[in-house]
Amino acid sequence: MIYYSTNNSKITATLEEAVVKGLASDRGLFMPERITKLPASFFEKIGGMSLQEISYTVASALFGEDVEDDVLKGIVYDAMNFDIPLVNVDGNKYSLELFHGPTLAFKDVGARFMARLLGYFNSKSDDKSTVNVLVATSGDTGSAVANGFLGVDGVKVFVLYPQGKVSDIQESQFTTLGKNITAIEVSGTFDDCQALVKNAFMDKALNEQMKLTSANSINVARFLPQMFYYFYAYAQLAKSGKDVSNVVVAVPSGNFGNICSALIGKAMGLPIKRFIAANNRNDVFYQYLQTGKYEPRKSVQTIANAMDVGDPSNFARVLDLYRQSHEAICGDISGCTYNDEQIAETMKATYSRTGYVLDPHGAVAYRALEECLAENETGIFLETAHPAKFRDTVERIIGAEISLPDKLRAFMQGTKQTVKIGADYEEFRQILSR
Ligand SMILES: *Cc1c(COP(=O)(O)O)cnc(C)c1O
Repeated sequence: MIYYSTNNSKITATLEEAVVKGLASDRGLFMPERITKLPASFFEKIGGMSLQEISYTVASALFGEDVEDDVLKGIVYDAMNFDIPLVNVDGNKYSLELFHGPTLAFKDVGARFMARLLGYFNSKSDDKSTVNVLVATSGDTGSAVANGFLGVDGVKVFVLYPQGKVSDIQESQFTTLGKNITAIEVSGTFDDCQALVKNAFMDKALNEQMKLTSANSINVARFLPQMFYYFYAYAQLAKSGKDVSNVVVAVPSGNFGNICSALIGKAMGLPIKRFIAANNRNDVFYQYLQTGKYEPRKSVQTIANAMDVGDPSNFARVLDLYRQSHEAICGDISGCTYNDEQIAETMKATYSRTGYVLDPHGAVAYRALEECLAENETGIFLETAHPAKFRDTVERIIGAEISLPDKLRAFMQGTKQTVKIGADYEEFRQILSR
């Protein structure tokens, strides 16, 4: 399969190039050249298939031309080895719990898949030098990527994070791993971390000396596999004998990688009637739906902080998928936006009415279903992280204690190892090239 740049369809790459480079040479995002329709027979038997079987079928349509069957199957079965249950919360509303992976957040799926695919490409390449993955994180991305790549041969990961600005739970998930993972504690802000990573990518001499890549949702190997679990959500509804003719999915959205993978899944035939892009106060996409104008702005801080994005990278992919048509986009996606007070209110009310503990991100999407779902529709919202990852916030809001899952407790007991640097590029460069 050929991948083209959203800035210029004449700039193309193979899957391997797209995964190793991340961004196209003109800074555009890669999109698959063809969208393969899955056969009707697949959807007829999907209710009887496992998460791994479904993921492998979808992965074959995406990557089957570029990766041998048995290798792809190994990658998929290994990456998707945890459950993603669909849980009824209230009436016609279901939670797709994406938090049963190693770091208890949905980013585990893409990070684990990408790590294995990159490891594979590196092992069969003539140039066996180490690939260095650089990630700047304000919390969740760093932990998913670090754990996804832990122990993968030929790959080193550098996680940069702002000192004192991530929670203890988040920090423990990428600073206690050791092996091929280096955590870099930057005395500065998240923006400083991002600037350091950007500088490294633009440093010509450094790039000649070593292989550098990124692992955020601009990378096709991280973003596309996220569509697997939308198929599995549909399968679980089908299996339970529920009406699947009117399924609506609400996605808590920040950089729009998650929802964009689902939109491509729909184009491949997944019978989802429509999507709701749920935003916190960072609602440039919501505004775009209302006005047809895209006006990025600086992000503001909210209690659903993994969605605090003022200029979502994957918006370029959404536009490209719908051939820049505002009308076509509005046909498949509606939007919602909620402030912190509304998010908290939803978490509290849902807990007292149903006993279900929402995390702040999932709560944004749950509220969108409460407000926008018709009676004859079945709603699925994505629970993108375990509420215990935001324990202090969640406990304060719902007024009850929540227990820490064993996986999180185990991270908390590890020993923190970090390299401390200032926000100065020279120091970072030295760590990379030593
Ligand atoms: C990253 C993240 C999101 C936003 O996902 P996008 O793909 O960036 O839209 C939502 N919730 C949680 C918990 C996240 O970590």
